[in-house]
Amino acid sequence: MVDLGDDRDLVELAGEVGPVSEGNDGEEFRKAVKEDESLREWRELGDKQERGFSWKGGTLVKSMYVTWDEFRDVLVVPKEWRGGVLTIAHEKTGHLGVDKVLAMVSKHFLWPGMQRDISAHCRGCVICQRKSKYKPKRAPVVERPVLSEPFEDVAVDIVGPLEKGKGGCLC
Ligand SMILES: [Zn+2]
Repeated sequence: MVDLGDDRDLVELAGEVGPVSEGNDGEEFRKAVKEDESLREWRELGDKQERGFSWKGGTLVKSMYVTWDEFRDVLVVPKEWRGGVLTIAHEKTGHLGVDKVLAMVSKHFLWPGMQRDISAHCRGCVICQRKSKYKPKRAPVVERPVLSEPFEDVAVDIVGPLEKGKGGCLC
């Protein structure tokens, strides 16, 4: 069982921008869904109620299996809202990895290229990169070429910063 982390904020966001209901303030979201060029094909599918797409309460949804046994509607997200979803799913959950963020987001939301965007968002996260266990390998020792005349090639080794020893010397 994959630990999906805390997806309360995503549920809350889906509630705020989802189908029209009491206390729902997703007017801008619904407007963006209708105008977003990247969603043109999906809107047409929604109009025809094909491939699981349909309109519910002013929003475009897709009815699909979000886990192997859970069938539900997920909200189609317009471009300008995707960054917010990713921030909630990655940064606010303590920087979960790509698989967990994907599992969590895809329970509530969908957009064209979502998997690619999630992957790029998580891999591009500066905080995740800083705490990554990956350390670059040390440069290998290379053999120096034999030179034919003095100062044909000059090499300098730079070390430091060095701590001062007793008496203040750096040796
Ligand atoms: Zn991160």
